[in-house]
Amino acid sequence: MTSDTNLLGCRFDFSKKVAIVTGGSSGIGYETARMLLAGGAKVLLTGRDEIKGENAVRQLGEPGQKLNFLKADVSQPAQCKKIISSAIELYGKIDIVVNNAGVFNANPIENVTEKEFDWMINTNLKGPFFVCKYAVPFLKENKGGSIINVSSDAGLQGNRLSSVYCASKGGLTIFSKALALDLASYGIRVNCVCPGDIATPMLDKDLKTRSDPEKYLETLTGSYPVGRLGRPEEVASVICFLASGISDFVTGASWSVDGGITAG
Ligand code: NAD
Repeated sequence: MTSDTNLLGCRFDFSKKVAIVTGGSSGIGYETARMLLAGGAKVLLTGRDEIKGENAVRQLGEPGQKLNFLKADVSQPAQCKKIISSAIELYGKIDIVVNNAGVFNANPIENVTEKEFDWMINTNLKGPFFVCKYAVPFLKENKGGSIINVSSDAGLQGNRLSSVYCASKGGLTIFSKALALDLASYGIRVNCVCPGDIATPMLDKDLKTRSDPEKYLETLTGSYPVGRLGRPEEVASVICFLASGISDFVTGASWSVDGGITAG
């Protein structure tokens, strides 16, 4: 990869497409929404924080015909249902669902409380399950669509101090494959992306919990075959590839976007 790669100008054709991006106020979700909009999609951006969400929408464009924010916590099944009904009310159909909302906390198993376990599993696994469950009838009615679940390298391998996160993302990876089988004959594709460490607010938050953040970041970066961490737009571009017709023969895939960290 060259250092002058400019993914900010990356364009796909999403004209006439309607997309949902959960947890889209920051990081990977925000960049995905930006690329979907640049390709002409109508986007419903969702998140838990209304102020953050509305600020993100203002940065992305004008709220209204093509872009809307909905406050919704994906760990609550009723709010997952509301995400889907809102997209239908606003735009009349759904073509693309990006289950991006997620949470992470590094913790040795002895310190993980039931509350922390539920928080991570409910956000990272139960949320995408219910968003998919409520979206599927409309995707079937639409005679096709593309679901992209944002998993992780931790959804493909075990990472230290991350047993619950790995369980949630591993569950999401295999859930995506199973659902791909059930929906293939309806023209609905289900894939997941598995990012490595990406420079987003999630990573910033994690660094703050480390005893020596600078040293930790240096070691982490050094562990990457490509010698650097990823950028959110580098994950967004793969999500948009999987959302677009260019990848029509791709379903049930777990697409690593991780600078080679899981290649060894
Ligand atoms: P981020 O913190 O910027 O984005 C996550 C978003 O999800 C935030 O906007 C957050 O408010 C939202 N969110 C959290 N819980 C929610 C809930 N219950 N309901 C609705 N929204 C909720 O970080 P990011 O790195 O852009 O994360 C996006 C996805 O990428 C996550 O699923 C994460 O697990 C995954 N991921 C990130 C990395 C990384 O290194 N940054 C690596 C692998 C996978």
